[in-house]
Amino acid sequence: MVKNGVIIGDGAMGTMLQSLDLPLGTVPEQWNLDEPDVIRSIHTQYIEAGAQVIETNTFGGNAVKLKDCAEDVVFKMNAAGAKLAKSAALTAAQKVLVAGSIGPTGELFAPWGSLRFQDAVVAFTNQAAALATGGADFLLIETMMDLQEARAAYLGARSAGLPVVVQLTFQENGRTLMGTPPSVVREVFKALGAMGVGANCGTGPKAMFNVLKDMAGSKSGGVSAFPNAGLPIVEDGEERYPMQPDAFAVWAEKLAVAGADLIGGCCGTTPAHIQMVKTNFKKQGFLTDLTTWLKLKQKVKVHKSAFLAGRTRLFAVEKSRLAQQLRNWGSIADVSVGSLSQSVQLSGNNLRPVVLEIPKGVSEAEIIQKTNELQMVDLPMVFAAETVLGLETALTYYCGRAGVLIPDDQREKDFTITARTLGALPIYL
Ligand SMILES: [Zn+2]
Repeated sequence: MVKNGVIIGDGAMGTMLQSLDLPLGTVPEQWNLDEPDVIRSIHTQYIEAGAQVIETNTFGGNAVKLKDCAEDVVFKMNAAGAKLAKSAALTAAQKVLVAGSIGPTGELFAPWGSLRFQDAVVAFTNQAAALATGGADFLLIETMMDLQEARAAYLGARSAGLPVVVQLTFQENGRTLMGTPPSVVREVFKALGAMGVGANCGTGPKAMFNVLKDMAGSKSGGVSAFPNAGLPIVEDGEERYPMQPDAFAVWAEKLAVAGADLIGGCCGTTPAHIQMVKTNFKKQGFLTDLTTWLKLKQKVKVHKSAFLAGRTRLFAVEKSRLAQQLRNWGSIADVSVGSLSQSVQLSGNNLRPVVLEIPKGVSEAEIIQKTNELQMVDLPMVFAAETVLGLETALTYYCGRAGVLIPDDQREKDFTITARTLGALPIYL
């Protein structure tokens, strides 16, 4: 049994393009401009197979990844991708939504790599604007392995004014490559106001089952699932995804029972897989229509849950007792990673949230550096800032869900608005 019904997404774009022998050295997004009929026909095949949501051919369409392309060309590729999908959707017999696909940059973020968070946000903002211009109905951030990159993509994407769904990629062990569990993904993006969260790529549907169960949580709405057609096997030097449509459809049914309400496919899936999923869902009575699905999605409540989250851990907090549990550590400028991690070792699982003050005098660069550095220690963190700008900087760079101490007379003022906008938990004293 599924609670609210399921809608069907499409399958892989890359797999279809590979079978068409992309000319070497061409980025897939270039085909939106050079071979629009080819791309449109792939969308049409998925629609005919039963997809109610189709994804634009813009997965790699951010300016960081496409650094050899001029900015206006990147914009055109994305806008054209959305326009093509929309034109296929409009000729469909049934209602079809266009999801603007936003994939990762392929670069490592600071402090692990050199990509600056704000530069990534700008690239994603521009991509999202182009997708909205081309007619996307919502944006689908996908295949993110780093929670911080997913956050950058979200902060950029939401500026386009469209609903956003965020999917991360989990490994067989149920965590992302950077160690983030599904529950953290759920809380971070719900607090930020995402229309939905989910998982795609990385594994086949079998390993995705527990990930989705954790992500859906006990009382939340649905989550989305786009698994690969099993784990790849190498044959004659080529990667192949072995799971056949009938087996895929059986697993898709289990994912729906686990809590998924939008199910499609990633690497190795084809229109045949999607068609089989549809046949099976129809038989089970799982399917719902897009209007109902959208209504339920937009009813998701935000800001209610009392969770703080670090990159790899979720911390449940009792709001009524929180004020007594806080430990003040002084100015963010004076706190060291060493002292924080020692405190983690001492307290084991009974971690009390740490309050970091952000005084007026601390520079923006220093806040960024310290926030990046301190979050390597997975402690629940609460910021107490003297200025709204200081708070905004810390919350932007903090990879997780922080708390924010707010004096009671500031309840409906800028500090609260900033905390809410950036997905933090306001704590009133
Ligand atoms: Zn994939």
